[in-house]
Amino acid sequence: MIERTLVLVKPDGVYRALIGKVIQRFEDAGLKIVGMKIVRPSKDMASEHYVADEKWLLDVGTKSKKSYIEKGMDVKESELEIGNRVRNYLLDYITSGPVAAIVVEGNEAISIVRKIGGSTSPQKADPSTIRGAYSSDSYQMADEGKRAVRNILHMSEDSAVAKREISIWFSDAELVEYKRSDEGAQYGI
Ligand code: ADP
Ligand code: MG
Repeated sequence: MIERTLVLVKPDGVYRALIGKVIQRFEDAGLKIVGMKIVRPSKDMASEHYVADEKWLLDVGTKSKKSYIEKGMDVKESELEIGNRVRNYLLDYITSGPVAAIVVEGNEAISIVRKIGGSTSPQKADPSTIRGAYSSDSYQMADEGKRAVRNILHMSEDSAVAKREISIWFSDAELVEYKRSDEGAQYGI
């Protein structure tokens, strides 16, 4: 099924001039760029993007807590407290510099983009993924520095989230429809 998903190259990726490499990886996988801009996000935009949704806060907290426990750390914070702390780090980070916002379209684009992007902690991410290839940051380093994990990318996690996130960063008129010249070769159409 053809889907659209939002990718943000976070400030670490923009400062490190990785935008081109990120786009190349998605284009190489047969996906199409249908929207793109460089933005310096406002606080309001950032908090709309990282909305304080309880399920998201708990998911982020649970994933982080599991990783802390695996490292033998003594974790006193609840999942929700960790989620809220991480959200504040993210708001500070995403508003601290330039972000490249990109809408990627293609067959199963949401899961394929996440597969190519790699898992949240670059230290754990497979080296064939963008996060694993271009960063070695970890939850522990980030927590010691009281900051968000610098993992180059944000990628929408499901279709409802993708729809909501794309509408925060782009108007309908900013998204363009066109055919890649290799669509026939790829999909037999
Ligand atoms: P993903 O970006 O892989 O979907 P999450 O949605 O779980 O990951 O988390 C959102 C972002 O929050 C991550 O990309 C990362 O930058 C940051 N982050 C997550 N957990 C932590 C943590 N424990 N400490 C610092 N930053 C974190
Ligand atoms: Mg996420």
